[in-house]
Amino acid sequence: MLTRSDAIRVDRDYRYTGEDAHSFVRCCLCRCYTPFIFYVVSKKALDVIANTLPQTHNFFCVNCLPKSSSTTTLYRDRCLFNSDEYLSMFRGYEYYNPYYGVYYNTPRLILTENIRIHPDYKKIVRKPQPALVKMRKLFGVFPAVHQIPFRKHASMVEMYSELRKKYREIRSTYTDTSINQTFMDTYCITVERTPSVYQSV
Ligand SMILES: [Zn+2]
Repeated sequence: MLTRSDAIRVDRDYRYTGEDAHSFVRCCLCRCYTPFIFYVVSKKALDVIANTLPQTHNFFCVNCLPKSSSTTTLYRDRCLFNSDEYLSMFRGYEYYNPYYGVYYNTPRLILTENIRIHPDYKKIVRKPQPALVKMRKLFGVFPAVHQIPFRKHASMVEMYSELRKKYREIRSTYTDTSINQTFMDTYCITVERTPSVYQSV
């Protein structure tokens, strides 16, 4: 039986080494916790880290997510994961203790390669604002189906299977046309931002 994990919330972050560390959703590579988890299915992207991780370990923090470059595109056309400017919105939320109180009651946003975003997202999240305010606003610019409660699972296996289930749910939600009308296809963003993405240094 699970203990009531609320009872062991901590006020500051430090690298937690308890056995239950792997029963919470976290980055498969660096093992940090973050409200923003990138769920990767692109074989090209998973091949990049195949030497380090088996392909079943396919969800990451923004820092560990395999990145496209000016010469290699790892994700399908119009996928937001190709845009570093888009990815930068999710940086800075990594932490290392699942019981850290600041994020304990924060759901996880599971970002998939087909994710759509609210057309007004720039007005909502791109102006300077405190990290936690911005985080809450980021949750609001994506379809609610991408959220999953942050909780301790019975085991790592259960955590993985819950994420797979969430991925299937997200996929089937996108076949509903009303979501596709409210939320923007990623194409508009990447086209608009093309000059900075392909700027050579
Ligand atoms: Zn990571």
